[in-house]
Amino acid sequence: MACYICDKHQAGDGVVAGDDLMVLAHVLPDASGGGPVYLGHLVVEPRRHVPGLADLTPAEAAALGKWAARGARALRAEHVYSSVVGHRIDHLHLHLFPRYPGTPRDYWWPRLEEWPDAPLGGNVEVTQLVGEIRARLDVAGAGR
Ligand SMILES: [Zn+2]
Repeated sequence: MACYICDKHQAGDGVVAGDDLMVLAHVLPDASGGGPVYLGHLVVEPRRHVPGLADLTPAEAAALGKWAARGARALRAEHVYSSVVGHRIDHLHLHLFPRYPGTPRDYWWPRLEEWPDAPLGGNVEVTQLVGEIRARLDVAGAGR
């Protein structure tokens, strides 16, 4: 059965970092029909194809928390929102939405992307940001 997230893991698209159990990745423009995406919108995804939080093993649950925390730190945002929605894809993915300093309160989550000055980007900007976030993770020296 085809799964967007399983395929993405195989190709390595948008992957920032990960370990045997989890992948930390940036959302890709192709997930939103090719349009620009909110820069810094990360997802933590189990490598195993499981639909929800309740399906995680204890080790996967610990890894999910670890990567959510590391991703949130690396975003250097004023605040990081997080949610599991899963209306379109039945492979668990925990969203991390950074709110950057200066975001007017009217555009706080879930309206971050509606702010006219919101940082949006295509593949080029996402690839550059993935590199920056990866470097921040390395600088933090947190290893795997
Ligand atoms: Zn999958």
